[in-house]
Amino acid sequence: MDQTGITTETPKSPWGSVAPAAPSCSLAEVMSEQLARQLDEENNSFPALSETGSELLTADEAADTTSDLMLAQMLQMQFDREFDDQLRREEKKFNGDSKVSISFENYRKVHPYEDSDSSEDEVDWQDTRDDPYRAEKPQTTPRKGFTGKGKNITTKHDEVTCGRKNTARMDNFAPEVHVGDGLGMDLKLSNQVFNSLKQHCYSEQRRSARLHEKKEHSTAEQAVDPRTRLLMYKMVNAGVLENINGCISTGKESVVFHADGGSLEEQPVPDEVVLKVFKTTLNEFKNRDRYIKDDYRFKDRFSKLNPRKIIRLWAEKEMHNLARWWSFPPPDVVLLKKHILVLSFIGKDQVPAPKLKDAMLGSEDMKDAYYQVLQMMQKLYQECNLVHADLSEYNILWHEGKVWLIDVSQSVEPTHPHGLEFLFRDCRNVATFFQKRGVSEALSVYELFNTVSGLNVPVGAEDEAEFMAEVRTDKTRPGGAKWSFIKLNLSLKGDECSSRCYYKNLKCAH
Ligand code: ADP
Ligand code: MG
Repeated sequence: MDQTGITTETPKSPWGSVAPAAPSCSLAEVMSEQLARQLDEENNSFPALSETGSELLTADEAADTTSDLMLAQMLQMQFDREFDDQLRREEKKFNGDSKVSISFENYRKVHPYEDSDSSEDEVDWQDTRDDPYRAEKPQTTPRKGFTGKGKNITTKHDEVTCGRKNTARMDNFAPEVHVGDGLGMDLKLSNQVFNSLKQHCYSEQRRSARLHEKKEHSTAEQAVDPRTRLLMYKMVNAGVLENINGCISTGKESVVFHADGGSLEEQPVPDEVVLKVFKTTLNEFKNRDRYIKDDYRFKDRFSKLNPRKIIRLWAEKEMHNLARWWSFPPPDVVLLKKHILVLSFIGKDQVPAPKLKDAMLGSEDMKDAYYQVLQMMQKLYQECNLVHADLSEYNILWHEGKVWLIDVSQSVEPTHPHGLEFLFRDCRNVATFFQKRGVSEALSVYELFNTVSGLNVPVGAEDEAEFMAEVRTDKTRPGGAKWSFIKLNLSLKGDECSSRCYYKNLKCAH
């Protein structure tokens, strides 16, 4: 049948006449590329929409399919992309969860530009956008407090947003806090976890600061902290001291150094001096509070000062107590600088006088020493209105055939609430020591107490507790009714004495 000879009748349409059908052509003509191009050109020159509404191909896409080379390239690209995907899968499998990964990047085929829209990269980009390192410029929630609309509202309290922000904030922790590789992950830390981490971080910082401070500010064994060292250097620089030679003693409360004296404008400085550095570690002084907080001279200031300043108060107290030793042999006070007390040296050529405990004394010298100590105790109590409160063979030096009392920082007045108890303890130490060293003339502790204090507490049962009970009820004791009357009487008479030498047996020496 000859199809070309058939003429089809055009059906009648209710919408009007239909455009005539395109003229039919042979298969050879259809397959001809030339014809196709020609038809395309015709189409392009009249880019009106066809009446069937089919989409037009763009000029580019049309061009792509026209060139064999282009088609081949596109196929190759597709092939390479698949190759790369396979490579990526293998890379992932090879690396697994290992922290150290090997990249197969160099084996990739596709040009990165072409690959940039691959789905994997999209994920990477997503990660980068939420990269905690970028969170230094934190995503700010708008003022209204939320983003999005309707059901998709995200507030600043959103769990994921908060979690990521918290992870990013870990970067602000102190450098010594190890946060692991959490920062590099898309980790979401809940507020609770983050807060406890932060708290831990702060307390660790404070702890290490405290440790550091302790190291910096404490006078460690046989050494001084930097501040004290600076004060000591300053004294040398100012010429008050020529040289600081070395440590004589490290006690619980102080470190004592030997130094060569220099010069001061107002007063001469002895050739040899000691620096008594009160330890700035507070532990030891805590046990000794009562020596200072119940001392009316320092009471008020004690309650107002911080612990560090109280250490200075101890140095100051020793200075004031020594200043009352107007008729006593040295040590004399040369200078007080914060918690450092400069005193005259007892000894010779850098060799300190031995403590009575260590001094090798013959019996005559020992007896002599005893009487000297007795006399000094009396003088101290009656003339200086002081109780040593730490008197023993450790705080008495023996030098040039004489005894020298030292270490009076804790000394109190007899009116101190525990003044007589301290005196009794001093008497016990002295009596016991000299009795042990064979001084037969040494008084018993009770007799010594009465001799030093001038009180007449009956020495009956010779029982310590009984004796002390008697002392407490004795009206003539300092602080008792009679004592108060004397004080009152003196003050009524307008007797002004800055050193408050009210004691009945005492002639004010000030
Ligand atoms: P602490 O309160 O630590 O006991 P001290 O005042 O008793 O301090 O001094 C400790 C030691 O230092 C004494 O035992 C003594 O050997 C020595 N020392 C103190 N002051 C002097 C001084 N002025 N001259 C010589 N040595 C001293
Ligand atoms: Mg001492």
